[in-house]
Amino acid sequence: MLIKDENGKIDILSLSFDELCEQITALGEKKFRASQIYEWLHVRQVDDFDKMTNLSIQFRGRLREVFCLKSLFIVKRLESAADNTLKYLYRLPDGNHVEAVVMDYNHGTTICISTQVGCKMGCNFCASTIAGFRRDLLPSEMLLEIYTAARDSGRRISGAVLMGIGEPLDNYDNVVCFLGLLSDEKGMNMSLRHVSLSTCGIVPRIRELASLGLGLTLSISLHATNNETRSSIMPINKRYDIDELLDACKYYFAKTGRRISFEYALIDGVNDSRENALELKRLLGGFVCHINIIPVNKIKERSYTSNRKNAQKFRALLEEMGLNATVRRTLGADINAACGQLRREYEI
Ligand code: SAH
Repeated sequence: MLIKDENGKIDILSLSFDELCEQITALGEKKFRASQIYEWLHVRQVDDFDKMTNLSIQFRGRLREVFCLKSLFIVKRLESAADNTLKYLYRLPDGNHVEAVVMDYNHGTTICISTQVGCKMGCNFCASTIAGFRRDLLPSEMLLEIYTAARDSGRRISGAVLMGIGEPLDNYDNVVCFLGLLSDEKGMNMSLRHVSLSTCGIVPRIRELASLGLGLTLSISLHATNNETRSSIMPINKRYDIDELLDACKYYFAKTGRRISFEYALIDGVNDSRENALELKRLLGGFVCHINIIPVNKIKERSYTSNRKNAQKFRALLEEMGLNATVRRTLGADINAACGQLRREYEI
């Protein structure tokens, strides 16, 4: 994607390989130079033109005139003593902050990244919304969340979840461009089978994403089993209700064959009753999907509570009803690894 900064310089990390080729040949250089640069950017992931040592000093200087190569500054780095989870607070070039979390699983290392600075969606249990919305992240900035963590941690990051700060489908074009760059075999080459995108339910965008057939996993933040409750905790439900949302999910499954994951943040006295479990059965019974129960994380501004024991009880209820559900493993609990918590502490 062709994006220029305030000085008119092209954001080089947001360019696809073909776009980079066009730009480099327009400078009168051979196409193989674009291949070299693309490899420096997306495979070796260098943060400075001067590190591109197989290019002449003169050409590096020319690149610096035409392009900008951004970097993220690590403001804070927290490592969980319990499970190696790493959390980064990054400063973006314009002074805004976002968070990313690196988690080790048996099958590999996954990073949870932010897609916007803040969020407009207003879910009332979520810390990301409280610190307010500033702007969308660019494709380059989402890639840099990964490249910077990989370089700093020395870990090989093989999966990504778009579950940090922000609503990815409210930043649709940049996110789709980012996914293209991330999975490009000439670049980072991450399989989209190892990528999940989580959304609060922007229905038309779910349908658009389905038609791209990208093969990534869609996670739906459902969190409630009827419209009254869902609208009271998630304003997006007033725009697109549960029926419309589930229709879009069925369309996504029909188009991609990918099993959908439903996130269910369990909140005491709000969505944890037997009746709620029955409603879930009515909504999701027979649909190929997975339900992820998350005991709601406490945030300062709300009195919501839940714990793993309640979550296990609710899971058992769902299982009784033949639904496929697990309680999400808690990682990084000692470092406030849940979304939005660190940025908010830092900015307010
Ligand atoms: N905007 C996207 C992705 C970011 S939030 C979305 O809504 O899906 C990532 C997940 O964390 C979502 O399922 C979100 O609902 C959930 N979440 C937010 N605050 C939470 C909290 N306090 N406790 C548990 N889960 C929370």
